[in-house]
Amino acid sequence: MAQSRESCIICQIVENKVPSLKVYEDDITLAVLDINGANPGHCFVMPKNHYPIIEQVPDEELASVFGIANKISSAIFDSLKVQGTNIFVANGIPAGQTVAHFMVNVIPRKENDGINLQWKPKQLSEEEMSTVELKLKEQVENIEVKPEKKKRQISSQKAEPKFISDEDDFFMSQMRRIP
Ligand SMILES: [Zn+2]
Repeated sequence: MAQSRESCIICQIVENKVPSLKVYEDDITLAVLDINGANPGHCFVMPKNHYPIIEQVPDEELASVFGIANKISSAIFDSLKVQGTNIFVANGIPAGQTVAHFMVNVIPRKENDGINLQWKPKQLSEEEMSTVELKLKEQVENIEVKPEKKKRQISSQKAEPKFISDEDDFFMSQMRRIP
């Protein structure tokens, strides 16, 4: 995955050196139809600048890319009459990243379309949970936010597994409204 900008297929798409089916472009962001996509209409949305992984993308460009990914998702809903989308980042090789240029996948979804992005829930022991929580919170302390976004202190709560039934799940009810 250690590709340089020169050998990066995405950068070549950005620079029009290889043909592609562009669906959206501005100064920062480009969206392209994936010809080998998971479903018809599968798009990938990326910053035009070359960043191998998400951690390297400046906040402003990241906001732009995710904002456009959201708009593309809406366009997919409206134009392709799908029932859902997955907005998906493969970040790092173990996560399935195959091209060293950060991108956001927008995958149109229909019921029983055979795409498997699901995982089996793992039951962590209380010890594992508290270790992970401690380590993560320690690191998260270092996140810097703009002064106007005041960080809040999070008190520790005992996590109970919670299952949301279809009936009272707001998102499910929203999805049902879409024809
Ligand atoms: Zn690139």
